[in-house]
Amino acid sequence: MKRDLLGLKGMSAEEIKNILDTAKTMKMVVSQPNKKTQHLQGRTVVNLFYENSTRTRLSFELAAKYMSANAANITASGSSVQKGESLIDTAQTINMMGTDILVMRHSMSGAPGVIAPLISASVINAGDGMNEHPTQALLDMLTMYEKLGSFENFKGLKVAIIGDVYHSRVVRSNIYGLRALGAEVAVAGPATLMPPQIEKMGVAAYTDVREAVRDADIVMGLRIQLERQKKGLFPSVREYHKYFGIDEEKLKLAKPGALLMHPGPVNRGVELSSSVIDGPQSVINEQVKSGVAVRMAVMYLLSRGGFNR
Ligand code: ASP
Repeated sequence: MKRDLLGLKGMSAEEIKNILDTAKTMKMVVSQPNKKTQHLQGRTVVNLFYENSTRTRLSFELAAKYMSANAANITASGSSVQKGESLIDTAQTINMMGTDILVMRHSMSGAPGVIAPLISASVINAGDGMNEHPTQALLDMLTMYEKLGSFENFKGLKVAIIGDVYHSRVVRSNIYGLRALGAEVAVAGPATLMPPQIEKMGVAAYTDVREAVRDADIVMGLRIQLERQKKGLFPSVREYHKYFGIDEEKLKLAKPGALLMHPGPVNRGVELSSSVIDGPQSVINEQVKSGVAVRMAVMYLLSRGGFNR
């Protein structure tokens, strides 16, 4: 039976570890001059993106090509979606062209889950509305794993995630994944951008960034999702940065050597100051490299039937 990757909710620690160990190996491929393996020889991967993307789309495409797959991209603008074709009809059309893996980004939460049972291709969720962005959280965890050295070190790891928690699919996938590996997650942001009862996901929630960041091992900023929010949820960009932006002073409250992360794209001077983005604790560029490796691992494992070892 074909498998999909719709989210990290309900994924076991063992499955996550298998993906991360596979991705660690794949990262070696990304670093070498000859980036060609046979892992997806002859398979076809199609990226179907209804929302903008730089990192996610390009990294899925390169990951597929590095593993010798046929890779193609289709975006909502420039396709028959503009002529009114429904998502289901579009996905079925792509499926009938010999597609083995359909990578999908959509503004509607749950859209990949609607499509997955209707087509024979494996569906990978590349971000669905405010719901999940599983490969982003996996690449974040790969970046942490490489610094931590072992899965044991995730137990009790303190991860502070700061910003527009309400609209973030990145934070939700990270909470599921990190909690499965035994990490402690604290979230912080303006009260207007904090989902009610977020504590039920097993996290600590603060409106004071300093409390979340204090003694953290990892500090992750989230982008303000202006495209998803009505006006007036936070005062002004300048004030946002003052109270919720991560700068050198706030980062000093974390453990010495704590890692600074952000999924990108970053609004410089809003979620993070330029000095911390370009500073020694930032692993933001490393996250990008991890992204290609994780997407290679996920596609390879799906092509072999799933994430269990
Ligand atoms: N690139 C990530 C996403 O698509 C984060 C962001 O856009 O803020 O969710």
